[in-house]
Amino acid sequence: MTQPSTSLPPHVAIIGGGPAGLMAAEVLSLAGIKVDLYDGMPSVGRKFLLAGVGGMNITHSEAYPAFLSRYAERAPQIAPLLRSFGADALCQWIHDLGIETFVGSSGRVFPTDMKAAPLLRAWLKRLRDAGVVIHTRHRWLGWDDNSDLRIDSPEGEKTIQPDATLLALGGGSWSRLGSDGAWMLPLEQRGVGLAPLQPSNCGFEVQAWSELMVSKFAGSPLKNIAIGLNDDVPRLGECVITATGIEGSLIYALSAPIREAINHHGVATIHLDLLPGKPVDKVQAALSKPRGSRSMAKHLHSQLGLDGVKAALLRELTPAECFTDPALLAKAIKALPLTLVKTRPLDEAISSAGGVMFESIDERLMLKQLPGVFCAGEMLDWEAPTGGYLLTACFASGRAAGLGMVEWLKHRH
Ligand SMILES: Cc1cc2nc3c(=O)[nH]c(=O)nc-3n(C[C@H](O)[C@H](O)[C@H](O)COP(=O)(O)OP(=O)(O)OC[C@H]3O[C@@H](n4cnc5c(N)ncnc54)[C@H](O)[C@@H]3O)c2cc1C
Repeated sequence: MTQPSTSLPPHVAIIGGGPAGLMAAEVLSLAGIKVDLYDGMPSVGRKFLLAGVGGMNITHSEAYPAFLSRYAERAPQIAPLLRSFGADALCQWIHDLGIETFVGSSGRVFPTDMKAAPLLRAWLKRLRDAGVVIHTRHRWLGWDDNSDLRIDSPEGEKTIQPDATLLALGGGSWSRLGSDGAWMLPLEQRGVGLAPLQPSNCGFEVQAWSELMVSKFAGSPLKNIAIGLNDDVPRLGECVITATGIEGSLIYALSAPIREAINHHGVATIHLDLLPGKPVDKVQAALSKPRGSRSMAKHLHSQLGLDGVKAALLRELTPAECFTDPALLAKAIKALPLTLVKTRPLDEAISSAGGVMFESIDERLMLKQLPGVFCAGEMLDWEAPTGGYLLTACFASGRAAGLGMVEWLKHRH
């Protein structure tokens, strides 16, 4: 990177116009630093907008200790970011943009209109008013031999020499929205410690469903169930049977430990409780009632309300002999083992795990190997469930990296 002239105000390049990069742009421009933001796509914030399609869940209202615990083993690294800009600060920031928020019954926080577009529009206007210059269709390719940034633009390839750089390039899922993980290679070539990108908040595949499960039940929601993994208390929620396996909010919430179990053991067995509201002895008592000439399907339906996809799943995963033994069948209904063999592809996942390891960055989020180059957002090696935790950490790390750059630029000589 070339040394800047000391008489000019510092200028920085931010690569990546997602929530992390835009937040850093705000902090830097407020500090009087000239910001050029580059994004490979025709417009910025595409994944942020997609996140708003089903209702923009921007953060969560739960108490800080529970909130922090969502980042699991990365909680110690995420804690300083959230202490400086956590859920409350994020809500205040949204309100300052003229967007109201509300807390849903699950504790999740949404903009009042549930949408991302008005927020992004207001934010981009504020950034442009503050002097941030946004260059779309400008794709970062890596560094050249002089350590200048190589940018592919509509006018052809060019190099730029900012005083500092922020990489906020996102994870590796939904590559058509711009974040494709291609940044791994140039960072690896520069000796930056990287953990492989893996799907997070993702679906899983079974070895093979029967023809009946695929043709009749792919796409069917499994409502009001609980799922347990290992000895953990089963979690309540819902998921969806797919043609290849299972997905949906409850599976996403458990995706990190399921994925790790598959990584370590080749498979992971989850246990589905099809009737979480009924203890096993009550289920057994109901099954033990005489069924006369009625079929087992009718018996399950009339005694326990089990039918449709739940009954099909029970048939699919339970040996035939269990259906003649109420104790065994009750056990199966309460803890139906389902073996998962792999994650669905990274591109389909809501987010990715892996990326730039925290050991490779300092407390300002600057790469130890590359002074003056900072990283923020989903490209850092952390993961969290859905529920607003992803966006909150992206905003918080973007802000921390922006502040870190301001500090570094002040003291670099
Ligand atoms: C379907 C879906 C729903 C989601 N819902 C929620 C939700 O409700 N709540 C929540 O908290 N999170 C949600 N998320 C996750 C959240 O959107 C992401 O975690 C967040 O957008 C990541 O922010 P980021 O700034 O790190 O990266 P991104 O938002 O991915 O932005 C990265 C930017 O970098 C650009 N870029 C990448 N490589 C280059 C390059 N080489 N040169 C130039 N530009 C480049 C990309 O074009 C992109 O604009 C959802 C994600 C998906 C896919």
